[in-house]
Amino acid sequence: MSTAHATAISASHTSDWTPSSWRDKPALQMPTYPDADELAATQAELRALPPLVTSREILSLKQQLAEAQEGERFLLQGGDCAETFAECNSDVISNRLKVLLQMSLVLVHGLKVPVVRVGRFAGQYAKPRSADTETRDGVTLPSYRGDIVNSPEFTEQARRPDPRRMIKAHARSAMTMNFVRSLIDGGFADLHHPEYWGLGWVSQSPHAADYQKMVAGIGDAVRFMETLAGRRMQSLNRVDFYTSHEALLLHYEEAQTRQVPRADGWFNLSTHFPWIGMRTAALDGAHLEYFRGIRNPVAVKVGPSVTPDQLLRVIDALNPDDEPGRLGLIHRMGAEHIADKLPSLLDAVKREGRRVLWVCDAMHGNTESTSNGYKTRQFKNIRSEIEQAFDLHEAAGTRLGGVHLELTGENVTECLGGARQLTEVDLQRDYRTTVDPRLNYEQALEIAMLIVRKRGQ
Ligand code: PEP
Ligand code: MN
Repeated sequence: MSTAHATAISASHTSDWTPSSWRDKPALQMPTYPDADELAATQAELRALPPLVTSREILSLKQQLAEAQEGERFLLQGGDCAETFAECNSDVISNRLKVLLQMSLVLVHGLKVPVVRVGRFAGQYAKPRSADTETRDGVTLPSYRGDIVNSPEFTEQARRPDPRRMIKAHARSAMTMNFVRSLIDGGFADLHHPEYWGLGWVSQSPHAADYQKMVAGIGDAVRFMETLAGRRMQSLNRVDFYTSHEALLLHYEEAQTRQVPRADGWFNLSTHFPWIGMRTAALDGAHLEYFRGIRNPVAVKVGPSVTPDQLLRVIDALNPDDEPGRLGLIHRMGAEHIADKLPSLLDAVKREGRRVLWVCDAMHGNTESTSNGYKTRQFKNIRSEIEQAFDLHEAAGTRLGGVHLELTGENVTECLGGARQLTEVDLQRDYRTTVDPRLNYEQALEIAMLIVRKRGQ
């Protein structure tokens, strides 16, 4: 389908849409701002600030996702459950970028297809919560909804939803993007420099030798190809990196939604690839309404309670024309339920011939609490969900086109197990997350290697 044709069709579906038409629908998981004038003034300010990404980048990602749908690429999407303003710093950003780049190198090498790299960062500041309020010692306050809304301390002042935080989130996102872009442009992902690909504390890992052998092999291959070509291969200096976040706080997303010269339609220019969380994916809800009108590639989390019929209606709403690269379905069932819940969804989408990119979030269906009170996930369940996902897709004749993971480049102890067999006692050592537990650097790299072992070669 030509681009002009696709635009004409989607325009007819969205003639009744505006960036604020979501306001007429039930909007779950949104804060109640106490001061409507302050909110409106903040949105006006946000609308005037420069965007964080461009429509051109968004469309090039859409093209890459279309290729991933066809099995010509594999999507790696990962980062924190929630970014925080305090952790917008050099080490956290560069370590997270490093682990994602190293994982993508493992995947490219093992799966023999290019990887689409998408961070859960530069805007991942809003969180859905199981309750609107929290009560401690008889005092009830609004729940913490992420740094873009309020602050986690349990005081009235900290928990008051403050629209000015959206300006700060925009600025922090811009700083994060700027630093990631500078690192990449400055050679952080340059395959000519194997020293950038070193492992740091992970060099003691049981998987380190495999990884190091692979990096050395790639270095040799690069030198060989360049000798053969008689020139340096510039394309090995840098990589494409894209951003994503859960577009939960629609006041923020709306103010970042723009029409751009030389491209038809509306784009969310706060991120390349926004997604709708499981709790806000209702068919008649505000989030679906907002998402249907933007031209970005978008994704939806699909949990164990979604029926095949509901899923087909979500696809109709978000991708009525079956545009390639437009829609990702991120299933997050849990290792225990995936074999039961996923196949009927895969069959329905296949039967209807709908074009989607299937992605496995192996984190959110595997959250549990330990006897000593930590929210954690077991490495073996994360691994099992990914392995089952590959097998279930194969059995259904569909394709798993990517993985979605919560991870950090830090040496935290939040998920149990992995090569170093972290135990409940280890969780006390360096448990930092205020929301969901993340794979640490070593566990994340291990997952990449396990994917290759399952799928590659
Ligand atoms: C998340 O991605 O952090 C999240 C809350 O996921 P889900 O919507 O799948 O529960
Ligand atoms: Mn999470």
